[in-house]
Amino acid sequence: MRVKLICESCGDIEFDGDNYQCPICNINLTKVGFIDGHKLMRMNGKKRIQWLENKLGHPISEKMINMRREYYKKQDEEEQQRLKEEREKYKRKATQNAIEYGRRLLEEKNNVPKCPICGSTNLKKITITTRVVKTAAFGTIGAIDDAGKTYKCENCGSKF
Ligand SMILES: [Zn+2]
Ligand SMILES: [Zn+2]
Repeated sequence: MRVKLICESCGDIEFDGDNYQCPICNINLTKVGFIDGHKLMRMNGKKRIQWLENKLGHPISEKMINMRREYYKKQDEEEQQRLKEEREKYKRKATQNAIEYGRRLLEEKNNVPKCPICGSTNLKKITITTRVVKTAAFGTIGAIDDAGKTYKCENCGSKF
């Protein structure tokens, strides 16, 4: 169970036991008992102030309540700003990735082998099976012809 602390000046409540100072008023916070802390946790801001005013026996100044409201509004805005920046960063990265992907695709396309004789990209890959079939049909001559060659140009018929 974390220690609950309350600011007697602005009614701010901290559930973190490490922060012994009110972030709004910079004054020391007052520790609240277990039962009171539990009650406070379930109260909304207005009720909490009422509870505190009852406990302290004097009203909490409107100025401090407003200061507290402004403080959290600002924190909220900062958080929103941070989230917005994060989203934009993510979007930029996604765009970058898309560009990179497109570039790679284009590179792959440019890397398509071309026939050194006629420049055609209409090539057929010579597979091991083709070689085996050729060896069976034409003996070693046909196999040697294809040895070390990967492509056959469908346009001019050259192998390379
Ligand atoms: Zn305070
Ligand atoms: Zn060719």
